[in-house]
Amino acid sequence: MAYKFATKAIHAGQHADPSTGAVMTPIYQTSTYRQSSPGNHKGFEYSRGTNPTRKALEDCVAALENGQFGLAFASGMAATDCVLRLLQPGDEVVTGDDLYGGSYRIFTKVYEQYGIKFVFVNASDSEAVRRGITEKTKLIWIETPTNPTLKLADIEEIGKIAKQNNILYVVDNTFASPYLQNPLDLGADIVMHSATKYINGHSDVVMGALIMNSVELYKQLFFFYNAVGSTPGPQDSFLALRGIKTLHLRMQAHCANGRKVAEFLKNHPKIEKIYWPGFEDHPGHAIAKKQMKDFGGMISIVLKDADLQETFRIASRFKVFTLAESLGGVESLVNHPATMTHGSIPREIREKAGVVDNLLRLSVGIEDAEDLIEDLKEVLS
Ligand SMILES: *Cc1c(COP(=O)(O)O)cnc(C)c1O
Repeated sequence: MAYKFATKAIHAGQHADPSTGAVMTPIYQTSTYRQSSPGNHKGFEYSRGTNPTRKALEDCVAALENGQFGLAFASGMAATDCVLRLLQPGDEVVTGDDLYGGSYRIFTKVYEQYGIKFVFVNASDSEAVRRGITEKTKLIWIETPTNPTLKLADIEEIGKIAKQNNILYVVDNTFASPYLQNPLDLGADIVMHSATKYINGHSDVVMGALIMNSVELYKQLFFFYNAVGSTPGPQDSFLALRGIKTLHLRMQAHCANGRKVAEFLKNHPKIEKIYWPGFEDHPGHAIAKKQMKDFGGMISIVLKDADLQETFRIASRFKVFTLAESLGGVESLVNHPATMTHGSIPREIREKAGVVDNLLRLSVGIEDAEDLIEDLKEVLS
């Protein structure tokens, strides 16, 4: 039966524990499982490969993305790494030129050394993605909205290009969360999440996820997941599963607060530029409207006439927002991408993507919007 999102967020993958009736999925803090005779077990052999708490989380996340299969990882980067292991030396990947810093780093610093080539294009222009394809292209990797300048890529249009060329198509859906956008429905083969962010939502777990529909793909990815052992423990799986129960409510609050904060900042004299896809003059607004349920709580701002020193001074003065890396938790965070999340990208490439020294990224939390606006008012005064 096809339940709606909120029902899936609370129930998918979870059943009252058969041995005790416990309503909440227990933390199965075990590495191994009794077998009644060799090979005769209840579906669980060793927790690197399978664990019941993790399995409940994987089934829940898969349901939220309208996928058949989910795999949970010890981090978003471990999930990304698992996908990249499908590639062979000589293969090429077409990807966006405005990526999460860690994705850029694993592409260029880890996988390039194994002979894989990454072609960076402006993914807001689907034709630029098409032009990046050669007969060696095996993977298209898209992030939308992007981090931190919130550029939009048309998931469905790029999906058609991937299909025409028989190329595996992955969407990093971290910024939107499964509540706002479901890439598998729009033609993606794999959805990747840093579950550290909105999915867990409480800034107390680092975790990643992959969701897919193809059983062949699931088997290939499961092989690396188990062979490499980049899987999360039961405690973290439990926390993420608990966090998910309020994903829909949190996202509604993030979006409502995001809108209020963005509107306050829009015409502020200290703001030179604001990136938020909910504004009609945002270049990706039409795409966002088409493929997202709402516009999210991520906002980036360029401060007017501020050098690095002044930007640091402003970033350090917040009282409600916390200066920290990461995003997607219930608490509001401010981040300085050029030196924090995107510090691993060379300056020239970074600045071309709009990650200038006076850019700040806000992850608008679910506190009272008036307090958030008051905090910004004071910091910018
Ligand atoms: C944080 C993040 C990642 C990496 O995830 P981790 O859980 O930190 O390993 C990947 N993509 C995006 C868009 C992110 O924000």
